[in-house]
Amino acid sequence: AAARNGDAVPGRVRVAVRLRPRNAEEMMADADFADCVELQPELKRLKLRRNNWDSDTYEFDEVLTEFASQKRVYEVVAKPVVESVLDGYNGTVMAYGQTGTGKTFTLGRLGEVDASDRGIMVRSMEDIFADLSPDTDSVTVSYLQLYMETLQDLLNPANDNIPIVEDPRSGDVSMPGATLVEITDQHSFLELLRVGEANRIAANTKLNTESSRSHAMLMVHIKRSVLENEDMSSQNGDASHLTKPSKPLVRKSKLVVVDLAGSERVHKSGSEGHMLEEAKSINLSLSSLGKCINALAENNAHVPFRDSKLTRMLRDSFGGTARTSLIVTIGPSPRHRGETSSTILFGQRAM
Ligand code: ADP
Ligand code: MG
Repeated sequence: AAARNGDAVPGRVRVAVRLRPRNAEEMMADADFADCVELQPELKRLKLRRNNWDSDTYEFDEVLTEFASQKRVYEVVAKPVVESVLDGYNGTVMAYGQTGTGKTFTLGRLGEVDASDRGIMVRSMEDIFADLSPDTDSVTVSYLQLYMETLQDLLNPANDNIPIVEDPRSGDVSMPGATLVEITDQHSFLELLRVGEANRIAANTKLNTESSRSHAMLMVHIKRSVLENEDMSSQNGDASHLTKPSKPLVRKSKLVVVDLAGSERVHKSGSEGHMLEEAKSINLSLSSLGKCINALAENNAHVPFRDSKLTRMLRDSFGGTARTSLIVTIGPSPRHRGETSSTILFGQRAM
């Protein structure tokens, strides 16, 4: 990738890495082994062990250790994106990593048992509700799953082949027919996530696949009434506009939270038929996502959004004036060093 861009460059993807704590099995099996990574969060560095003597060092925008709280992860990874969405820009937060490294924990935890566990989806919505005025603003939500280049509605499973339509003039992307639910409080949002999750499990059972083999996307659409004057005075501070009669405008923006399919390589030699098709489809969408992120990092004029449905869907909430955050999740086990290494490299290419 090109030299690191500054935060001010529009369209730059911010990349954080998060290490999952050792699970019970890893504590037993790898008790005598060192973790394959060593984090230096103050330096925003991660060292990946090559062998007992050597390691490679990588820098990220943020390095989140196994002790990082869900609250801190939200503040570092998602809050700046949510704030910019509340200001009228589109934004995306996505999690990339091997299955079992904490993508869903990071994004989707409801925190019903332990409130401190609340993940990025729930915390984002809390901040959105805190900022909106119920009289003039509205929030609608859709929840979708992309599996094998087919887009399914997690809020209405019968709706299992949703098209992706792009407005050639505005560049806005829409998914006609996807259920849009207006949400007025956190309680109904949690209920919607539960319904979506149950439908996701049912749909994947029917397809005889794991939910880790599909991408889940929460889309939060915000409409706010703003006075024309408000917008103008905030841009140029020219008080003469304030004397003009004000006309309310509707300002639309959206937040997309993407729990990506597991990035692990399915070995082509060992899989055939449906498994192979599934693996190819995941490789296509994740590699085309990677190419779009690289193109943005290098300020290329051409970003190959057209190459997959995943990137076509994200086109209007990614790059340009949109704010994007990527969290790459890794585990500590030396047994998965190869997958951990390729996850780290995916994150590095985005910077
Ligand atoms: P993924 O969605 O990437 O497949 P999950 O989010 O399902 O991974 O996480 C796998 C397991 O690890 C789950 O049991 C989850 O609760 C646990 N886990 C993940 N990240 C953390 C964390 N930061 N702290 C504690 N447990 C975690
Ligand atoms: Mg998951």
